[in-house]
Amino acid sequence: MPSKKESSKNLRNPDMRNKVEAILRLLDELYPAAKCSLAFQNPLELLVATVLSAQCTDERVNQVTPALFKKYPTVRAYAHAPLEELENDIRSTGFYHNKAKNIKAACQILDQRFGGKIPADLDALVQLPGIGRKTANVILGNAYQIPGIVVDTHVGRVAQRLGLTAQKDPDKIEQDLMELIPKERWIIFSHQLIQHGRELCQARKPKTEVCPLRPYCDYAAAQPV
Ligand code: SF4
Repeated sequence: MPSKKESSKNLRNPDMRNKVEAILRLLDELYPAAKCSLAFQNPLELLVATVLSAQCTDERVNQVTPALFKKYPTVRAYAHAPLEELENDIRSTGFYHNKAKNIKAACQILDQRFGGKIPADLDALVQLPGIGRKTANVILGNAYQIPGIVVDTHVGRVAQRLGLTAQKDPDKIEQDLMELIPKERWIIFSHQLIQHGRELCQARKPKTEVCPLRPYCDYAAAQPV
């Protein structure tokens, strides 16, 4: 028997079903063209850009990657790169020791076990150093159009505030959202929540008073009038 809290998050609950439908409709009106803001031409470029985007803005990553992608056009190029040189090439994205180490190690595995290709498979991707479910879902959704929900800091925060999840752990948030959101919407829904988190539902001062999602937002409802 599910607890009251669990069942209220379930689509079998008509209130939740109506709420989710309204939120999806409003997100489509607000962000009809939401998409990945990292610049890339192929799955390898997206993998590298996504690793670089940790703790860094997409704008900064997009400044670094044109020269980087030109210098390292293949998995093998990263796999054979001197670590220190790769670190210098990505230094301005921050945390460059770890990022360079992970990119090089991931590309060594891709070179040796996957013929230099990026597998379109979540289980294979999450085995690579530095690639968690979030990064894997970014790659699958945007390079291969395979549905996945990307739970980054924006998606987690906005989903919690809207009352679509009570979880804090990203994997559990992903699970809750996968149950609530139709699969064909997973890719654009992730982009829409990220854009909403950047433009209106910021961490510190959400622009609740002008937010069209306000009638459906648990966080807004709990604020003093
Ligand atoms: S009403 Fe406020 S807290 Fe709720 S989604 Fe909109 S901006 Fe975020």
